[in-house]
Amino acid sequence: RTVRPYNFSAGPAALPEAVLRQAAAEMLDWQGSGMSVMEMSHRGREFMSICERAEADLRTLLAVPSNYRVLFMQGGGLAENAIVPMNLSRGGAVDFVVTGSWSQKSLKEAARYCDARVAATGESGGHFLSVPPASGWQLRPDAAYVHLCSNETIHGVEFAELPDLAALGSNAPLVIDCSSHILSRHIDWSRVGLAFAGAQKNIGPAGVTIVIVREDLIGQALAICPSAFDYRLVAENGSMYNTPPTYGIYIAGLVFQWVLAQGGVAEMDRRAAEKAALLYGFLDASGFYVNRVDPASRSRMNVPFFLRDETLNDEFLAGAKARGLLQLKGHKSVGGMRASIYNAMPLEGVQALVRYLDEFAAAHV
Ligand code: PMP
Repeated sequence: RTVRPYNFSAGPAALPEAVLRQAAAEMLDWQGSGMSVMEMSHRGREFMSICERAEADLRTLLAVPSNYRVLFMQGGGLAENAIVPMNLSRGGAVDFVVTGSWSQKSLKEAARYCDARVAATGESGGHFLSVPPASGWQLRPDAAYVHLCSNETIHGVEFAELPDLAALGSNAPLVIDCSSHILSRHIDWSRVGLAFAGAQKNIGPAGVTIVIVREDLIGQALAICPSAFDYRLVAENGSMYNTPPTYGIYIAGLVFQWVLAQGGVAEMDRRAAEKAALLYGFLDASGFYVNRVDPASRSRMNVPFFLRDETLNDEFLAGAKARGLLQLKGHKSVGGMRASIYNAMPLEGVQALVRYLDEFAAAHV
């Protein structure tokens, strides 16, 4: 049995090894059916049971209330940037809180379908370093919804707590893009009308998009909305209006079982705090590396950082790879490094990264 390297990719990202091993064992014959999951009809008894269990486990993990529908869709986060306004905006006002690239992209795409406006931005001098305080958000009373990205994968900015829009005087539902931290913390459904997430970071392979939406928000899609993206049709057909991404749903289901077996979202939350504290604590104390995000807004999943001497970047990455620490290069739009430490990253992986960071710094002072 070989020891696999630690993979810090932002997504598609590392999966729990136990899940990969189970998928490998079941590849040719799923539970005596004589078929690979990839070869099953999506409407057959076998796949239906896989899909139903995946949904039930996800509901358990996130304590999804019964008046919310869970949809397995396709198109990823970027497609939802259009699908959400086509379904929820009624072509009217929608407010956006911009805390990094992904919410910025959501705003731009939504503007094609509705009156999209910035309610608040965390941008200052071209950087995104904090979540703007909710007390200063400019919310319109007639907004169909308010959109935010609860964890900005590129800038490493996370909402430690979701805003209570009602307490801010708004009765608009909150829409969250939680692609890159879903299942790492509890979601307060009393504050959220719709949550969406591409699966390829904290859940499974690319190709599955999870949408969890309050029932009363369904059924008001714009006429131009493609049928396959109309939440009402998707919900009425149990996510099988069109052929769903069956293999991806199967892997996502195995990941849900794995998270449950580890102790659920509460345990993922505890581990995320522990891993993030170790890594940020080291970076802050080092003097050699730097992360400039406001500590209160720092992502526990995506940790962007810079070497103070950026001429060492290539040497740093080559040395990391030689030690089995993969995909640490930062996003091209911000440069530097980024360590994504999702649920599947064990504490040992972060400890190995910190050892390397320490040794590399010591060899270059
Ligand atoms: N939102 C967030 C927060 C993301 O991290 C990403 C992917 N990095 C996206 C949206 C876009 O996802 P996709 O490429 O699946 O459309």
